[in-house]
Formats: sequence, structure tokens, C-alpha cells
Amino acid sequence: MLDFTLKSYQALVLAFQQAGYRFQTFEEFVTQPNDGKTVVMRHDVDELAWNALEIAQLENKLGIRSTYFFRIVKQSNVPEVIEQVVKLGHEVGYHYEDLAMAEGDLLKAIQSFEANLNYFRQYYPVRSVCMHGSSTSEYDNRLLWKDYRLSDFGLIGEPYLSIDFDKVFYMTDTGYAWDGGKYATRDIVENGFGLKFHTTQQVVDCINEGGFPEKALILAHTLWTDRMTQWIWLHLREFFRNHLKLLAKNNPSIAQLYKRMVDMYWKK
Ligand SMILES: [Zn+2]
Repeated sequence: MLDFTLKSYQALVLAFQQAGYRFQTFEEFVTQPNDGKTVVMRHDVDELAWNALEIAQLENKLGIRSTYFFRIVKQSNVPEVIEQVVKLGHEVGYHYEDLAMAEGDLLKAIQSFEANLNYFRQYYPVRSVCMHGSSTSEYDNRLLWKDYRLSDFGLIGEPYLSIDFDKVFYMTDTGYAWDGGKYATRDIVENGFGLKFHTTQQVVDCINEGGFPEKALILAHTLWTDRMTQWIWLHLREFFRNHLKLLAKNNPSIAQLYKRMVDMYWKK
């Protein structure tokens, strides 16, 4: 079976449901965590907003609710999509990158953070935010929280700050693989569960065998699709991006080139 399609996403959700896991939104998990087996599905909508809507519809059909973090850039911030995701019963949060966008100017960053948060609050009473990795920027977006508190903005959680990853297993589909974390530059979480997966089928097998942790936060981006031309194009792109990112780690001129390409791509 092809991986990272809506079909494989459905297989993953069904495996959790059959094994007795319940799904919570991030906001619920922080404020009123379930006892027992719980999964939080977090979707960072970095791009391809319409794919997010398809995932949201599938989840609704399967009877689960999850959390969608939208960026302010146009590839993510598509009002029709946000509205429909909210209608389907999911949580919406803000995927912030204000410090990187303000090139480290903290005052500018906190002002745009607040304005963007208020923008998303037109659609949903946003209570959680999650940093975007901004892999080519020298600024870590989380540095906002050295001088400000989430509660200053009526917020209850930020996945990288509010979750104890010794107790909650964290898994991400970065680079089209569950072990692609080696390609990530900033959104890295270390944990001591000793589990390593590459394909979704391996995750499903582990759930079926009862070896999957009791609590998990799973980050799935919007690259999951059943449209084959898009699936092939995205796999090629991720393949080159992963290799470029690895090269860039040790080679400043490739890092520069990569940063220029990313800046061009995201230009509003
Ligand atoms: Zn992101």
C-alpha cells in the first residue's frame, strides 16, 4: 500500500480506535486530559490548505476531532478552509512564526503575533499556538516566550512548551517518514520510548500488538493525499528537500542557497 495517502491515514486512525484509544484536541488534552489511551492529532498546515480540509473531512467521518495549526502565509491561511475545518468540529490554533518574520525584532514580533492571533480568533476562539520551525531562519520563534507568557494572550498551551515528552510519545511525519526527524532543524523532540518507525504500517502493527505508548501526540502535515500526481510530486520534492537540508547542515553556501529558495517560495 502506498504510504502517506488518505487511505493510510484512515488505517492509522482505525488501528487506534480498534485498540481502544480515544482522540482529543490539543486544547482538551491540556485542560481536561482523558484517563487511559489517548491520541492527539496535530496538523501543522504549513501549505496545501485544501489537503487539510480533506483530512478534516475524513476525521469527521471517522468520528474524531483534531487540531489544525494555520500559518498566516497565503499557502496556509485560506479562509474557506479554516471555516470548514471549524464547522467539522476541529480545533484551530495559530502556527506562529512572528519572530522569524520580524528578523528577531521582539517588539515587532509580539505585535504581529497578537494581530495574527486576533485574526484567527475571527474563526475560532483560539487557545493554543504552535511554533513553525522556520528552518532557514536564525531565530527560534519560541524565544517570544522568554519575555511574554502564553496567558498574557489568553492562551493555554503550546505543544513544545506544555507537553512532557517523557510521558507523551511524540511522532512526526516530517519528510514523508515517521523517522524523518533527522532532517528537521528545530522542531525536534527527544524522548525515551525507544520506538522507531519508518512507515505508517509499522505504526499500525505496533498498535495492533499492544506495544504503542498510552499517550501520544502525533504531528501530521498536509502532504497526505490520494491524488497520485500530487503524491508523486510531493515525494520527489521531499526527497530533494531532505537531502538539501542535510547538505546545508554542513555547508554554509548550500544553506544560503536553500534559504533563498525557501524565501522565494513563501514570498507573499
Ligand atoms: Zn510548520
